[in-house]
Amino acid sequence: MRFISYIYNDKEYYGIADKNSIVPMDTILKHLGKEMPKNLLEFIRTYSDSLIQDIETILSNEHIEPIPYDKVKITAPIPHPRRNVFCLGKNYRDHALEIKSLPSGSADIPDYPIYFTKVADPCIGHMDKVIIPKEYTENIDYEVELAVIIGRDGKDIPAEKAEEYIFGYTIANDITARDIQKKHSQWFKGKSLDTFTPMGPYIVHKSEIEFPVELDIISKVNGEIRQSSNTRELIFDIPYIISDLSKGLTLRAGDIILTGTPKGVGMGFNPPRFLKSGDIVECYIEKIGTLVNIIE
Ligand code: MG
Repeated sequence: MRFISYIYNDKEYYGIADKNSIVPMDTILKHLGKEMPKNLLEFIRTYSDSLIQDIETILSNEHIEPIPYDKVKITAPIPHPRRNVFCLGKNYRDHALEIKSLPSGSADIPDYPIYFTKVADPCIGHMDKVIIPKEYTENIDYEVELAVIIGRDGKDIPAEKAEEYIFGYTIANDITARDIQKKHSQWFKGKSLDTFTPMGPYIVHKSEIEFPVELDIISKVNGEIRQSSNTRELIFDIPYIISDLSKGLTLRAGDIILTGTPKGVGMGFNPPRFLKSGDIVECYIEKIGTLVNIIE
């Protein structure tokens, strides 16, 4: 199942995404005699595995009038995360080496995960515009990443139980102002500008993606492939990240973890190939889909 958030008749909704249309969650839950949590984040915070099964049963047994995509505006699945988005830096070997080879580059393959967070409030959605504040930055870069959505609260989670704490997966573009990032010893500011976290188009429930997660991951700018790898190339894999990050730190249902980006970012080219107005960035992950955003 693919969980999608959208605006319909000026109101925020969420539902189950089909190929051509969306089945609204309020109607599904009405069939089950259940109240609807107000948004997808609240749904993820309160759902149970049996509810997921009940929803599947309703979808296969009842006809619910779907809403065609051209009637809605898709938003990020979780437009307003409760906390900053957790991120990993240099978590693909080829990307770590790409950074090391830059004139200002330092550090090798990391021995420990490099964690940082970014403000993503709001996360922007599929087909939304990334706004470059040109008075502050000129070096805007793209980073396709697999995003893990946590499904239940947990602390000190053993790696072998990590999957139990996952709700599903989506695609993120960790847009970065490289010039701002470089000025500060923390990456926070250069990655936290408004509109710098496109995410979506929807969350694919974990039941549709085999564990360990090994998915092709690609980014394109104006149709040209820039990044192409597979999530099996992660230095620190998803069980390791969830286990390590949750040591002494409670992960909450609805938390979002961006697992890092492979080689091929604009900064890695000589000369660098940063984004400019009018560019179209596509982020693709196998079994999830394609997140498209326009640079303004
Ligand atoms: Mg990143």
